Amino acid sequence: MTAREALKHFFGYDSFRKGQEDIIASITAGRDVLAIMPTGAGKSICYQVPALMLPGVCLVISPLISLMQDQVKALNEVGIHAAFINSSLTEGQIRRALALAAEGAYKIVYVAPERLESYDFLEFAGNVEISMVTVDEAHCISQWGQDFRPSYLKIVDFIRNLPKRPIVSAFTATATEEVKEDILCILSLIDPYVAVTGFDRENLYYRVESIRKKDEFVIDYIAAHPEDSGIIYCATRKNVDKLFEALFKKGVPVTRYHAGMDNEARKKSQDDFIYDRAPVIIATNAFGMGIDKSNVRYVIHYNMPQSMENYYQEAGRAGRDGEPSQCILLFSAQDMVIDRFLLEKKDFSGLDEEEAELIKQRDMRRLQVMEGYCRTAGCLRNYILNYFGEKAVTPCDNCGNCHREYQEQDMTAQAKQVINCVAETKGRYGLTIVLGTLMGADRARLRELGTVEYKTYGALKDYREPQLRSLISQMVEEGYLYQTQEQYSVLKMGDIAPLRDESTRVMMRIYQEKEPERGLDGRNSEKKKAPRRSTDALTSAGYDLFEALRKLRLEIAREESLPPYIIFNDKTLIDMCIKLPKTAEDLLKVSGVGERKQEKYGDRFLSAIESFVESHPHSVTTIQAREDEADGDGDGKLSGRQESKSSAKPKFDRAEFNRARNRPDGAGAAWSEEEDERLKQEFQEGMTMAEMARQHSRTRGGIEARLKKHGLIEM
Ligand SMILES: [Zn+2]
Repeated sequence: MTAREALKHFFGYDSFRKGQEDIIASITAGRDVLAIMPTGAGKSICYQVPALMLPGVCLVISPLISLMQDQVKALNEVGIHAAFINSSLTEGQIRRALALAAEGAYKIVYVAPERLESYDFLEFAGNVEISMVTVDEAHCISQWGQDFRPSYLKIVDFIRNLPKRPIVSAFTATATEEVKEDILCILSLIDPYVAVTGFDRENLYYRVESIRKKDEFVIDYIAAHPEDSGIIYCATRKNVDKLFEALFKKGVPVTRYHAGMDNEARKKSQDDFIYDRAPVIIATNAFGMGIDKSNVRYVIHYNMPQSMENYYQEAGRAGRDGEPSQCILLFSAQDMVIDRFLLEKKDFSGLDEEEAELIKQRDMRRLQVMEGYCRTAGCLRNYILNYFGEKAVTPCDNCGNCHREYQEQDMTAQAKQVINCVAETKGRYGLTIVLGTLMGADRARLRELGTVEYKTYGALKDYREPQLRSLISQMVEEGYLYQTQEQYSVLKMGDIAPLRDESTRVMMRIYQEKEPERGLDGRNSEKKKAPRRSTDALTSAGYDLFEALRKLRLEIAREESLPPYIIFNDKTLIDMCIKLPKTAEDLLKVSGVGERKQEKYGDRFLSAIESFVESHPHSVTTIQAREDEADGDGDGKLSGRQESKSSAKPKFDRAEFNRARNRPDGAGAAWSEEEDERLKQEFQEGMTMAEMARQHSRTRGGIEARLKKHGLIEM
């Protein structure tokens, strides 16, 4: 089997993505490899395909238990025999897995680095043919990196002590020059092929929004994207809880995750998110390591992260399936204050003064880089790429800043009027009164308070309210004004001394939303177009079919206890809506449908498509088909797109959401051997039915039925 045949047969794809083929060719030719590829570039394919072609077994060393489990599930789903060995298994299970692996039952075995020293594992490794050792998250081997793991150093001895040196391949998504050198040296790669596919993620649209009313932004954003899955990162647990409450009250199917929750609750939140029961998650940065959910359409940062490394990694959890996705950072000057404060409070015990000072300086620099990102008027993508050492000059035309123009306006005189007005209020009134007064509003309340008699009444009547609002908020940021934090916050005078100096100016940026360059039909543009979502190719009928297939996927996912995206990802479902396959053969032509999945799920998807087509005669599912039908009528295109965007996107199904939440997680799911073992033990330890149901996230009835099956309770 060639690499391409393997790709088609198992994974259902016709062609490799950028960089993959060269890496695979090097490995299969027996050469070591170091590949630095951004998340979502398809790095696992780069070792999974060669593992199928090489003799013997391939060991993949990975630090993340949940990721291992996910990968093994996904491999088994496409019919590749794989297993993982880590601390989530009992000793008995590990022995069994190793025995099977020794008999050649698996092509790929995932293993945690700690395992490499254990007697059982060494004995196994000495007696089987290991054709390749793949080091995933290879940056963990470097002390320069942020995620240094001492256990990674054990890999070196492990490889050295194998009877025959295997091919060594190393993969990572982030590596500065120092980290790269470390990986090459410490792992002693021999004449390696080094592939750097770059940090750019073309499908991610970066945006920074300088706003104060973040909750409103988030609520509006989710309301405008009800069918999308997203992550919202907050800096603190308190923020997570607050935002969670606000969204939950609005009926948004949302869950939350932070280190203050107990293990069980966190696991449940994580699963609700992964299994799309709650497509939106509010979390601290404790969430996300090892989450491989491919259909995350947006990542919103409610607060500014503390470094670009963190931001790139967290925002990068959007769009792993390659579909256009948004990375939005909500910035307010207060974030800087909080971050500085957290930095000051950081615990440096155990470090000497000099070291502590160095780290402090490093952290402060990282913070400044992040602040620069939030405040830059330049291309956001280039800012990120430049930080990671890729020189990009031409603006990307696909980020928030590239799509907006601004002018600087000298607002010093206006700022002075604001200060005069606040002085006249003697710091007693809030923003609304100050604004109304300055604009000369005709309001009973202003007459009541007597501000209509002020000298500044109507002083800025020629300005629009939003502009004055941002002027005042900028003045608060710059310290000229002070806004109290109580419920009824009032504006007070800040430090206005600098304004007495004639040379001090208050410059304000006036942004204008730039119209997208392309014409409405998306064709008459010379410039690089913003990537469009694949669903844009669908008409409203096509979208209905997509929804129907998504429902079917969810149903199957629940039966199989698998995350929906492991069954098929969104892109594959959309391709089904476009190609409308009628036979198994047709279905295999759909991108992402391999032999095994065709056999397993093909009939159900084919009959869903068939019954949809039957019950919607004469309706076309793609814009293209409609255009063909409309015989080149220009109006047809436009109405088609509008329809696909505006109608047919269902609102949150609250009832279904509740149903999903009230029913325990695992209810109805297949029992694994491991879970059965646990259940038997719990029963023997005298646990009650209710406790066991809770432990297993199943219904009492489900537990009873299982115990009956094992003959532990009366029939
Ligand atoms: Zn840009």
